[in-house]
Amino acid sequence: MSTSHSDSHVDLKKAGLKVTGARIKILNLLATSGTVRHFRAEDIYKLLSESDADSGISLATIYRVLAQFEAAGLVIRHHFEGGQSFFELSDGSHHEHLVCVKCGIVQDFLDPEIESRQEAIAAQHGFILTDHYLHLYGICRACQK
Ligand SMILES: [Zn+2]
Ligand SMILES: [Zn+2]
Repeated sequence: MSTSHSDSHVDLKKAGLKVTGARIKILNLLATSGTVRHFRAEDIYKLLSESDADSGISLATIYRVLAQFEAAGLVIRHHFEGGQSFFELSDGSHHEHLVCVKCGIVQDFLDPEIESRQEAIAAQHGFILTDHYLHLYGICRACQK
């Protein structure tokens, strides 16, 4: 998609990052991946080498670019059980995660009741919530078979 290319350029510049080939490729992959929205650095490496065998982008570069994206607010890093970091594009909207402990698939969800309960619990303890993430671990439908 040609539009996503120019969008990535704009997003990088807005985030104060210089436009480089590696940054564009990684950002495009995060932005145009359809239903899968959560990636480990290894997933990105695998997908990039599949689509472009001599992309010349090493795993170390991907880790570095993801850290730069995180610092610039372009992506959110999630630490799920098992020590794995998952990255997803930050679209400014909040959601929680269901994580399959077998295949590692990540499903987003948002429940208004859980949201307001968390606010209430924080308030009960004299806290003003600034951020939160809820990760539920389980076995996905496909892995139950
Ligand atoms: Zn699964
Ligand atoms: Zn998510």
